Amino acid sequence: MLDLPFDLPAFEPGTVWLVGAGPGDPGLLSLLALHALRQADAVVHDALVDPRVVGLARPGAMVESMGKRGGQPSPRQPEINARLVELAARGLRVLRLKGGDPFVFGRGAEEALGLVEAGIPFRVVPGVSAGIGGLAYAGIPVTARDCNSSVAFVTGHGQDGGIPDDFDWDGLARGAQVMVFYMALRQLDLVADRLQAAGRAASEPAAVVSRAATPRQRVVETTLAHLARDVATANLEPPALLVVGGVVELRQRLDWWRPED
Ligand code: SAH
Repeated sequence: MLDLPFDLPAFEPGTVWLVGAGPGDPGLLSLLALHALRQADAVVHDALVDPRVVGLARPGAMVESMGKRGGQPSPRQPEINARLVELAARGLRVLRLKGGDPFVFGRGAEEALGLVEAGIPFRVVPGVSAGIGGLAYAGIPVTARDCNSSVAFVTGHGQDGGIPDDFDWDGLARGAQVMVFYMALRQLDLVADRLQAAGRAASEPAAVVSRAATPRQRVVETTLAHLARDVATANLEPPALLVVGGVVELRQRLDWWRPED
């Protein structure tokens, strides 16, 4: 399949591979992900997966879009799990393709548990998570030695929608020098308020990166105090990440990527 000097594992019929497609740029796919795309009989992908990646599926493969998308009608998780089980039970090689990494805020764990319950063999192929690789495309290293020795990944979308009321903002503000928020574009006001109330400075650097690692990447660099206003003015679109902390300032020197027009 791929001309490599070593073997990759066989994609057995009747199994499911849960594969991370990375944040956008198809060049960020792993060898295992490409190997799976070349062999899968059925590709069930998330709304977030870049169309150029889906386009790498083997000609003749069955391709279905099945994923959650904030604010739009989307299949319920049990339906997705049932579909994966059904396709695998038919003896197909099933590729479940997810944006970023399947085990980072992507419900990959729930899908894998569904497969375990149904007795379907599976493999997990990690991908480049947007909160690491997407930020790198914006020139923001998630850690830098002079800046932070810890980073927290936070979801703005918990079990019941938003960030839970009892979320430990004090613990986060004290414990994590850098914070990366997924799915938080609609809650920038709340995040900035809570972090400042928990002791983070109004002048703390913050950035929102929209459509990272895609040709439509846009970045707004600001501070906690001006976060919501500046992002609203720029009219950024999802998917987007919020990063708070000193590493944001490195972008002024490390902004290396020029998305093509
Ligand atoms: N499993 C994915 C995350 C899924 S949750 C991963 O590891 O990256 C969906 C959230 O991921 C979005 O709301 C957004 O916060 C973030 N995200 C995914 N792709 C992105 C991209 N290309 N640019 C910016 N944010 C992205």
